[in-house]
Amino acid sequence: TVSVSPSANFSLEELDKLSLFHPVTSIADVQKNGPLIYAKAGGVRMRDHHGRDLIDLGAGLWCVNVGYGRPEIADAAAAAMRNLSYYHTFGGASNEATICLADRILSLLRERAGAGHLARVFFGSSGSDANDSAYKLIRYYNNLLGRPQKKKVISRLGGYHGVTYASGSLTGISAYHTAFDMPIEGVLHTACPHYYRFGEDGESEAAFSDRIVADLAAMIEREGPETIAAFIAEPVMGTGGVLLPPADYFAKVQALLDKHDILLIADEVITGFGRTGQWFGSGAYGLKPDIITMAKGITSAYFPVSATAVSQRVWRVLEEASPRMGAVMHGFTYSGHPVGSAVAMANLDIVERDDLVAKTAENGPYMLRQLQARLAENPYIGDVRGVGLMIGVEFVADRGSRRAFSAGLGPHRLVARHALERGVLTRALPFIDVNSFSPPLSITRAEIDEGVD
Ligand code: PLP
Repeated sequence: TVSVSPSANFSLEELDKLSLFHPVTSIADVQKNGPLIYAKAGGVRMRDHHGRDLIDLGAGLWCVNVGYGRPEIADAAAAAMRNLSYYHTFGGASNEATICLADRILSLLRERAGAGHLARVFFGSSGSDANDSAYKLIRYYNNLLGRPQKKKVISRLGGYHGVTYASGSLTGISAYHTAFDMPIEGVLHTACPHYYRFGEDGESEAAFSDRIVADLAAMIEREGPETIAAFIAEPVMGTGGVLLPPADYFAKVQALLDKHDILLIADEVITGFGRTGQWFGSGAYGLKPDIITMAKGITSAYFPVSATAVSQRVWRVLEEASPRMGAVMHGFTYSGHPVGSAVAMANLDIVERDDLVAKTAENGPYMLRQLQARLAENPYIGDVRGVGLMIGVEFVADRGSRRAFSAGLGPHRLVARHALERGVLTRALPFIDVNSFSPPLSITRAEIDEGVD
């Protein structure tokens, strides 16, 4: 046994290896190569603890939308901590910042996404817990409606919704399930709407979309519509590989869900608050969700805050049943944290003041064009696509047939490693061979050029 303290004669790298259990990390790799320790960040730039500078084309995990090191947010956090460092929101307790944030989210949804039917906002602290809350609330809703058999949730292969037991089961990427005994019963996965990879030879995008929506319809019929409670989807799939839906896909899915009284959950954890160049992906793609989950861009990750917004239709059922049900026994210690809400308000002030959503609508296509121009001739790059500042570069072993590299051989991991050696952070994604680019929405054209070069 080794007993260590920071005063012991170990480097930070050694202490990391001896003490830290890293999320989504190969233990063997860290033991062999050591951790990468960051010391500082400002704007789109990071510095590691050896003093090396990097440009972050990922905004952390698609989340630092206003860029690193904003003094206004630090000041708002400090003021909130001095004023009301914490109180819970159980049993009707409340605080000004959280009330204002709930109202602001509903107003943004109404005014910027045509989603005036969203009625209330529940707060948590991660995207996973927001989706868990949605998962539980739809069960609660159907139990109140006297249809306890209507419980299954359909998600999509390639979808990413988190890692907790319910949200991780909704995630449609098998790597997240291996050896964890997931997915849980009652979660079903339907086809991934990625035409470039999953479209058949000679099949048009419209025919592909028809085929996978017909698959979804068949799944609903097979299981029995009376057993299906909800369908969950990211408007644009992020971790799955920056996968844009075919043009009419969501309209057809929505019609199918309406026909069978199945709720739509839009997972806007990445797409919410501007990343697609519109305020919400639901607005950008014409979705009418019954529940919208959000996290990341609410605070640009300066404080862990998530939100689950529920529609009038769901809320009314909960409200009417309230006298007989008593308290809704769901909530977290950090639900409606006053410091988190103050941070979110300061963050959204910057998004609005700096017009970051409109900038993303201009700079995203610019960055996409720069990448496409540089990569067009590469025989191993099949597709470069994106919307706003969500861009994916997909690798193929053969461009003509769109054949993928064999499992485990994906060059995208090598590319991410080489980019890191050249001072650029990009992510190698786990579903198909894609490197993602999702810089802070505050990135300048000069910084885009530098990163792309
Ligand atoms: N949903 C989506 C679309 C995500 O991209 C993520 C995280 O990347 C999550 C949910 C889970 O969020 P968290 O890691 O905060 O639990």
